[in-house]
Amino acid sequence: MKRQDDWYDPMDPGPADPGPSADDGWHEPPADYDYRDPREAGRGAGEDDRQAGRPAAGNAEFRNRRSVQTDLFEAPVRRPQPVKRQPGQPIGTMAEAQELLRKYYGYPDFREGQKQVIECLLSGRDTLGIMPTGGGKSICYQVPALMMSGTTIVVSPLISLMKDQVDGLDSIGVPAAYINSSLSYAQVEMRIRKAERGEYKLLYVAPERLESERFLELLAGLVVPMVAVDEAHCVSQWGHDFRPSYMRINELVSHLPDRPLLAAYTATATDQVREDIVKHLKLSEPQVFVTGFARENLSFSVIKGENKRDVLMGYIREHAGEAGIVYAATRKEVDQLCEYLLRQGVAAGKYHAGLTDKERADAQERFLYDEVRVMVASNAFGMGIDKSNVRYVVHFNMPKNMEAYYQEAGRAGRDGEPSDCMLLFSPQDIHIQKFLIEQSVSGPERQAQEYRRLQQMADYCHTPQCLQRYIVRYFGGEAEEDCGQCSNCVSPDMELTDITLEAQQIFSCVKRMRERFGMTLVASVLKGSRNKKVLDFGFDSLSTYGLMRNRTEKDIVDLIQLLVAEGYLQLTEGKYPVLRLSSKASDVLSGKERVVQRIRLKPSAPVVQDVEAELFDELRKLRTEIAKREGIPPYIVFPDSTLREMCGVQPTNPAAMLKIKGVGEAKFFKYGAFFIEFFKQRQG
Ligand SMILES: [Zn+2]
Repeated sequence: MKRQDDWYDPMDPGPADPGPSADDGWHEPPADYDYRDPREAGRGAGEDDRQAGRPAAGNAEFRNRRSVQTDLFEAPVRRPQPVKRQPGQPIGTMAEAQELLRKYYGYPDFREGQKQVIECLLSGRDTLGIMPTGGGKSICYQVPALMMSGTTIVVSPLISLMKDQVDGLDSIGVPAAYINSSLSYAQVEMRIRKAERGEYKLLYVAPERLESERFLELLAGLVVPMVAVDEAHCVSQWGHDFRPSYMRINELVSHLPDRPLLAAYTATATDQVREDIVKHLKLSEPQVFVTGFARENLSFSVIKGENKRDVLMGYIREHAGEAGIVYAATRKEVDQLCEYLLRQGVAAGKYHAGLTDKERADAQERFLYDEVRVMVASNAFGMGIDKSNVRYVVHFNMPKNMEAYYQEAGRAGRDGEPSDCMLLFSPQDIHIQKFLIEQSVSGPERQAQEYRRLQQMADYCHTPQCLQRYIVRYFGGEAEEDCGQCSNCVSPDMELTDITLEAQQIFSCVKRMRERFGMTLVASVLKGSRNKKVLDFGFDSLSTYGLMRNRTEKDIVDLIQLLVAEGYLQLTEGKYPVLRLSSKASDVLSGKERVVQRIRLKPSAPVVQDVEAELFDELRKLRTEIAKREGIPPYIVFPDSTLREMCGVQPTNPAAMLKIKGVGEAKFFKYGAFFIEFFKQRQG
């Protein structure tokens, strides 16, 4: 299959029309779903042996969920007795779920959004969770899975993601496995047999597997209390990455002897996609929750009209030693930017689809293991990477829609620690994205939809409102108050300027041009340009001609964009959007309403480093040593947030250590002693 994940590159001829399934940036294309994770190299066939050799903490414990046992390492029970659950019958209480969360994950409580979703599942109802990636959605099906007898099947579209999830579950002592094309037939059979014996609580399955009738029959032999569908928008032809195999999920459900509970998750905002999910997965009277889009630890900022490289370099210098991702729109830009950073002495790596599999795997691994601090990447990077200590994500170019942006930006701060998401905007970014829509999306209806979504992305860059609030509303959630930390909220370096007069000039020009032209031409007329189009239409005779001649055309376009983002002007859909006045504009024209703009005065001051930085660094070193010994990425040992809390508490005994968030029982047994010893030595 042809690689298309970096179709984004406008300089690259590539396929003219990748078709509906590959038209998206934020999801890797089918070719890449089979991309094998570097960490898997050399494990392969041995994986089952490794899992077999480990004492199974499996269903023995969960067979009777009412008696929560503390012994994690109990011998496996060969045949779990299926406990039949009637449809709609409750599964358990939130208190029980919380106990499991504490015991396995080491956290005292669920996040607000997780609570609602889990509560609904526990009441025995199908659930559709609209949650961002990184909003903690895996816990929303993992914890309920721990409370039910049998093996929960998780349909997940990405091999590397499954691998990461199974590693994560493994590290906290929950038995899980995955089945996808990276395994041989014999390995698949072995895993199914183990699942039949009830040795896994969760089984991750690639949707393509469901195409095989034989495979469905194999699964029908399992006790499956729940099917969780990750990235459920893949079931919709309206979704940005339709995958036909998702249509088979329903087939899987009907093959099972008892109808399992269904839990679906997506981060897509459009209603049409949501309706499709309910319809095609045949969710039964599902509750829908929009949740988790407000990530309090993320500070968003949009920076316009400054030299992007200078801003980026300044930021990286201020945050030396922290891990970050820099997304750029094209391969060429990734190459050049990475080279530039290396020249500036930054430990940078790069990742895009033009590199070989090996180059990509190496780059990814070096980033995961904290050897490379800054990853410069195209949108091909990041799917299935759960590195929790990414401290910032910078977008060197504006992405094509809010879904793509939030997916990528949301890779910052998975551990809940304060992190930054910065977008460097230039109007050129809009042109690039339009070109790409034109090249890659077929059909006027779909194109119109993509243009609309692009406009909403551009609005984000121009809105003077709270950015966090804009995001939450875009995805259909409610934001009660401003975040207080985005670049629009925190603005000591911002100045409010009254631009009512300029707005009136622009509106009246749009009106005099009969609302039939786009921004560029309106700006040319206001500037008093003598370009051919202006003269051909005779616009030089309009009373608004040259009204803003003391500004640059770029400035005027920026102002128009601000007025669009604020809803005073509307842009029609399509390739050549036309400016129209909205009803809000007439209040400004009549002098009833005033318009203000925030203007950035100077770059923000560097963030003050915290006093525990040194101790934190030492803990990070200890974590890296442990990770190397175990052959896992450092963040799997403990996330940054856990190390931070240790800095404050400095635990020197088991009880204190177990109170730290992120220290569950399994991890305590594995790593607790190293850290206790470290603090003892430090204090003694
Ligand atoms: Zn804000």
